[in-house]
Amino acid sequence: MKKLISAAFVTLTLGACTTTEHASDISSDNSVVPNSLSSPKNIIMIVGDGMGPAYTTAYRYYNDDPTTVEIEQSVFDKHYVGTSSTYPAKVSGYITDSAAAATALATGVKTYNDAISVDTNKKPLLTVLEWAKQQGKKTGIVVTSQINHATPASYLSHNENRNNYNAIADSYIDNGIKADLYFGGGWKYFIREDRHLVNEFKAAGFQYIDDYQELSTLERNKPVLGLFGDSGLPWSLDDKEKHRLSLMTETATKQLKNPNGYFMLVEASQIDWGGHGRDIGAAMAEMDDLAKTIAFLEEYVAKNPDTLVVLTADHSTGGLSIGRKTAKSNKDIHSKYLWQPEILRTLTLSPEKFAKTFANNNLTLAQVNKMLNFEISAEDMTLLLQSKQEGIKILEQYQQLSAAQKYAKWAPKAEGQILIAIKKIIDIQTNTGWGSISASGTHTAIDVPVYAFGKGSEQFNGQIDNTDIAKKIFTLLGKK
Ligand code: MG
Ligand code: ZN
Repeated sequence: MKKLISAAFVTLTLGACTTTEHASDISSDNSVVPNSLSSPKNIIMIVGDGMGPAYTTAYRYYNDDPTTVEIEQSVFDKHYVGTSSTYPAKVSGYITDSAAAATALATGVKTYNDAISVDTNKKPLLTVLEWAKQQGKKTGIVVTSQINHATPASYLSHNENRNNYNAIADSYIDNGIKADLYFGGGWKYFIREDRHLVNEFKAAGFQYIDDYQELSTLERNKPVLGLFGDSGLPWSLDDKEKHRLSLMTETATKQLKNPNGYFMLVEASQIDWGGHGRDIGAAMAEMDDLAKTIAFLEEYVAKNPDTLVVLTADHSTGGLSIGRKTAKSNKDIHSKYLWQPEILRTLTLSPEKFAKTFANNNLTLAQVNKMLNFEISAEDMTLLLQSKQEGIKILEQYQQLSAAQKYAKWAPKAEGQILIAIKKIIDIQTNTGWGSISASGTHTAIDVPVYAFGKGSEQFNGQIDNTDIAKKIFTLLGKK
């Protein structure tokens, strides 16, 4: 913790110098238009998908050192500068999806939900990444989803619907290669029967890697495509590299370094997936990977003060609440003010992986406790066994449906009911609440936090809108 605090002090001190420099620029030439002296050379835009204020707050307590009296500041707290509204174009109401929000963050224009950097008339919009490339900067994207998922796609592509995954992947080649570096998942979209986009990237001069180990042996000054998963990457909790976002980001800063600077998008994509699943364990582990990324970038900016880092969320997800509703009539709910993240800190696998293992094996209570790395009660064990039986019944019912009936439904998973049960056990033990009751339609319209540090970070202070973030980045990149 000491090390973090001193790194923060260095950053703050450097930040103060930058501000003074900026102020004197303005007074000497009487201009408020950023010039090369006040514009950062490198811009790192980070999106925590679904990371509303409940997530950054929960992370502070998750990250708290229980052996000290104080609640330590998180790496996010230190760089907080304000909040951002997230609403999409009027046609989509007040609650945004990741596509419309990423379009706002990437282009400065509000659009309809599902749109990938096209406006409400489906006309393409210039993105900050495209503009940075036109200015001679290198560009890159580092994400934990598939690289053609809504957020990265909105910086790289234009499509009327985010679900056109193959078309979006194709556009990464067909509409001109826009980035020098792509790290994330996506084998199933980039290596298809009808088209082998990885080979097309190689033919265009890219090096290709598909294992984290190869991140340390990349050729410099050669563009790179790195795909490390079929679709999204495994949950941080289950990945062989728990801090894969920070590892990929660190490599990207080395790979993109050049005299003209770079623009990079980094996305902690799966905080949102934890929120949709109402899975506090998975969500906090994704937050921890993002926190490691910010801690690395603090040190990086201290050494490279001509770099700007901006972090925000596209929206919040799941209606996460730190504490469950208190109702004495429900024995599952504590009627006390408590949030107990202790068991989350020591989790060594995702609830999803636990549920799959429980579905496929006859585990004892002792084995379950060992796997979870915390203790559940005998009643919880009964609940898990009952949910396993329910799952089997649901599967049998599904098997009896006609082909047409099957087609109209999602196929149930053997572990589905167990997953619901184990997440409920974790919610009750930690006293975590969720406003949403299903996995779909669970974004919320609450404003999201904005964090910034490094050169030009003062531009992002206060209550702003998600479109302002793109507008400010365009200005810092010299666009009139
Ligand atoms: Mg996303
Ligand atoms: Zn979402």
